[in-house]
Amino acid sequence: MTNGTGAEVVVDLDAIAANTAVLRERVARPLMAVVKADGYGHGLVPAARAALAGGADQLGVAVLHEALALRAAGVTAPVLAWLHGPGADFTAALAADVEVSVNAAWGLAEVVAAARATGRTARLHLCVDTGLSREGATVAEWPQLVAAAARAQADGDVEVAGLWSHMAYADSPTHPTIGAQVRVFEEAVAVARAAGLTGARRHLANSAATVALPETWYDMVRPGIAVYGLDPLGGDAAASGLRPAMTVRAAVALAKRVPAGAGVSYGHTYSTAAGTTLALVPVGYADGVPRAGGNRAPVLAAGARRTIAGRVCMDQFVLDVGDDPVAPGDEVVLWGPGDRGEPTAQDWADAVDTIHYELVTRIGGRFTRRYVGSAGAV
Ligand SMILES: *Cc1c(COP(=O)(O)O)cnc(C)c1O
Repeated sequence: MTNGTGAEVVVDLDAIAANTAVLRERVARPLMAVVKADGYGHGLVPAARAALAGGADQLGVAVLHEALALRAAGVTAPVLAWLHGPGADFTAALAADVEVSVNAAWGLAEVVAAARATGRTARLHLCVDTGLSREGATVAEWPQLVAAAARAQADGDVEVAGLWSHMAYADSPTHPTIGAQVRVFEEAVAVARAAGLTGARRHLANSAATVALPETWYDMVRPGIAVYGLDPLGGDAAASGLRPAMTVRAAVALAKRVPAGAGVSYGHTYSTAAGTTLALVPVGYADGVPRAGGNRAPVLAAGARRTIAGRVCMDQFVLDVGDDPVAPGDEVVLWGPGDRGEPTAQDWADAVDTIHYELVTRIGGRFTRRYVGSAGAV
């Protein structure tokens, strides 16, 4: 079923499975597929099932709600949720067998309280800030957090299953912060082990580190974007054996001849150089097509690459296809794997000065999502 215009996001489940398998084979150790943010815009549950079909050992999400949605859909694989605010429902997390991360004494106290209330042992990951200055306990706070977690483990309230951190510059594989973060991480691990937390898996590598930095792989890797086939280093995904899983397409809603000098779309930031054919594309910024794509972003339409003519509106944008034949219903591809000559999400990212992560996670709105391939399908 379409939304009435034919605009759809097509997700290739077999690509997600194959990308997972390629990464898993490269690192030859457990892999946590990150499916936060609705599977990076590919659909939380189908993306999770496809990644598991491709050999993912676990799933990772940001917030508890995402983990509980996986469980509600019947996904039973281990899942870690790492971002919580005070009052998060750790009781629900424990009841659903969701692993949680903590980075501060208050978080640990809440998890311990939930464990006592439910009589279950919480599977816990401890996060240390090794230089990103984002999630993670500071190195100064770490020994106390570790000691408290070791006490909670001795009491049977928690089992510390993971020790982890996150990289700031993994997409610049020679950056000096990488060695510095690895050193801090290893010191933090040593502190935790000395406190008796010897059974925990160490994990540090996001996609870029999974692709480029073997010294960060430790006991498990934690890729997200690469699972969806986008090159975390901003290069050619195919060169890393990855295939983009998302194709974004729409259908021309109107085609018409206009004379030279016609101003196109709001503000007339584009005007026709000669008599030409304009094609109307019924998707806009409310659907996640960046407004910044006006006069900049590429699409494949009427047999060639075109740049969007004039501003992207809330619901639509316009193409100038010259004298090429175009008719209502003809396909317009915004981005895809690239093998039909269509732009890639990386091409769009370059055009609108962002990263492909932002494009795929924000596309949505009134696009219909359609799955192809069979990996993980139920
Ligand atoms: C999003 C995220 C990942 C995955 O990052 P990618 O760059 O998409 O591979 C891994 N770990 C944490 C903590 C994250 O927030």
